[in-house]
Parts: sequence; C-alpha cells; structure tokens
Amino acid sequence: MTENVITAYAAPTANAPLERTTVPRREVGPRDIVIDIKYAGICHSDIHQAKDEWGGAIFPMVPGHEIAGVVAEVGSEVTRHAVGDRVGVGCMVDSCRECENCRAGLEQHCTGNPGTVMTYNGRHHDGTPTYGGYATQVVVDQDFALRIPESLSLDVAAPLLCAGVTVYSPLSRYGAGPGKRVAVVGLGGLGHMAVQIAHAMGAEVTVLSQSLRKKEDGLKLGADEYRATSDATTFKELAGSFDLIVNTVSADLDLDAYLGLLRAGGTMVQVGAPEKPVSLSVFSLLGGGKSMAGSMIGGIPETQEMLDFCAEHGIGSKIELIEAKDVNEAYERVLAGDVRFRFVIDNATI
Ligand code: NAP
Ligand code: ZN
Ligand code: ZN
Repeated sequence: MTENVITAYAAPTANAPLERTTVPRREVGPRDIVIDIKYAGICHSDIHQAKDEWGGAIFPMVPGHEIAGVVAEVGSEVTRHAVGDRVGVGCMVDSCRECENCRAGLEQHCTGNPGTVMTYNGRHHDGTPTYGGYATQVVVDQDFALRIPESLSLDVAAPLLCAGVTVYSPLSRYGAGPGKRVAVVGLGGLGHMAVQIAHAMGAEVTVLSQSLRKKEDGLKLGADEYRATSDATTFKELAGSFDLIVNTVSADLDLDAYLGLLRAGGTMVQVGAPEKPVSLSVFSLLGGGKSMAGSMIGGIPETQEMLDFCAEHGIGSKIELIEAKDVNEAYERVLAGDVRFRFVIDNATI
C-alpha cells in the first residue's frame, strides 16, 4: 500500500507560524471522493485553533474548513458525486450516522462514539488525524461533500461552507423574515454573510459594529441601519427593538447591554466563540422573558439548503484572494480587523 502525501500549509505548534509542508493523504475508500481543492476560506476559528485557544489541539495542524473544489477521483461505491463535479466541504467530514442527531441531519451534534469528525484538528474513526483545506487535496466520504450550484463561483462559495451556514442556521431557526428586526453584531466573515442572508430572507437588518468604518459596505450588503457600539447612545436608542440578535464577535462583549436591545420574547444567538467564558446577569433574561442561545455550524442537509438559497439569491462571500504564502499575514490582518470580508486562499499557489 503506497501512502499518498499532499502539500499543505500547517501550523507545527501553537506558537509558530504556518509553513509549507507535506502531510499524509487518507487512502481512498469505496465511499470516498478525492477533491482537488481550488479555494479555502480563512475562518477566525482556524486562528483560534492554530493558536490552541480552545485547548486540545492536534499538531501539525492543517487548518481550513471552508473548502471548494472539483472531484478528481471517486471510490467504487460512490453514487452522489462524479469526477469533475464542483463540491464543497465544511467543518465536518464524518459522524456516526446512527444516533438521533445524525438521523435528523444534525451531524454536528453527533452523540455517537466516536462522534463528529471535524475536517481538521480532529481524528478519523481509525484514530488518524484529519487535515483541512490549506492543502492541494482532501479525501472525504461522499455524504460530507456538498454540491456547489453552477451560478456560484468557487472562490466566493468557499466561505459559505462555514461562515454561510453558521449564520443561515440560526436565522432560519429563529424565523428571520418579513416583519422581523434582526441585529448582526460584528461585520466580519460571519457577520457579512448574516447581513446578506437575513436581508434576502426579508428581515429588517441592523449592523452593530465597533465603529462606522465599514458602514458603506454594510449598507451595500443589505443592512437597513448601521450603528456603532462605541457610541453609548446606540444602546439607549435601540433598547427593546430587536426580535433576534446574532452575535458573531470573537471576543468577550458586555452581553447584558446587548440583551437590553431585545424586545420581550426576543432571542440572542451566540455564534462567536471567544477563548474565555462569558458572563451575564440572569436579570437581563428575566425581564422581558428573553432567551440566550448558541448555534454551531449546521448539518449536512441544511448546508446544502443554504448553498441553494445563496445561489438563488445571488449571494456569495465578499473576498480578498491571497496566495498561500501570505497566510500568516492574513491571520494578523484578521486579528487586527483588517479584512473585507473573508480571506480566501488560491490553492493553486500552494
Ligand atoms: P472575523 O472575521 O474576525 O469577525 C469578527 C468580527 O467581530 C470583527 O470583524 C469585528 O467586527 C468584531 N470584533 C472583533 N473583535 C472585537 C472586539 N474586541 N469587540 C467587539 N467586536 C469585535 O471572525 P469570523 O470568522 O466571522 O468568526 C467570528 C467568531 O465566530 C469566531 O470566534 C469564530 O471562531 C466563531 N465561529 C463560530 C462558528 C460556530 O459554529 N458557532 C462557526 C464559525 C466561526 P466589527 O469590526 O464590525 O466590530
Ligand atoms: Zn469556521
Ligand atoms: Zn451520530
């Protein structure tokens, strides 16, 4: 048995920059497909994990869970995809398939053993590490590859595989639509997708950003209003006005202040995943009978639904395409808030 290797950009340890290297490529099983990766988005979660901010990281780590590419090879039993198909891979590459959540299409919440296999920084069911999208190829089970509709070009589609579905899922679950007022906190990779999707769903959308620096872009993306959270009058004037708040911020925020912006019965959904525990006063929830919720990516059926929705509404990510060698600089720029709105690696440069 020959072991295939692929070229990739990997973090050797938590404190070192990513470097060009090779990693083993998984054997192609009968139900697997080989994808030539064309583009890989840089999600803030890649940075959290490459720096081991969430703990338990596996090194060397090839990040990347916003993958768009073309099928290069299929296993003998593959029926869902053919060579040449345009496909995407998000945050997961396998799960148990049998537990209640897997059967409901919520593979991200698999309770089986072993459970959800994350695209990188995880382990396959045989214990070998998974490697992500900053690489020339990836091998995945056919059930965990999504169809990318023809009308979406692969570069702007890549970020939909994580950022897109992560915001589509709670917007859809909590009924963003006509007559609903939705606030999106943070206009980064997730936030700029949330604005476009909530707008396309028919909701009235307000961006709550640290400053008015990106206001023009936010309005172009479909926001009806754009307010700075550094301005205390924002919290006074908008008190009690939203049905739904989607918080995409990667850092700790004064959650009580944001809960004050909800109408009675409203919900604030946390999708940002800061390194440290967050705190809030329960009284911010009691008055007004408000809810605080969390949401993690979306299942495979919902990810396909989101891709089809985005294609139907002409929604893609607004990207800055980079060469793979510039990935460390891109990380620094994400941390500095200097990105509009997603860095995407051109994998041909790996
Ligand atoms: P991003 O592009 O860096 O966007 C985050 C935005 O948050 C920034 O653009 C900024 O927006 C705002 N922000 C950053 N630091 C802030 C601070 N100190 N105070 C207030 N606002 C701040 O990151 P992303 O890729 O969208 O990811 C956002 C978070 O979601 C990360 O924690 C990531 O790990 C997490 N995530 C979660 C899931 C999930 O399934 N739940 C999936 C993907 C990502 P403004 O400049 O507009 O203020
Ligand atoms: Zn992500
Ligand atoms: Zn399961």
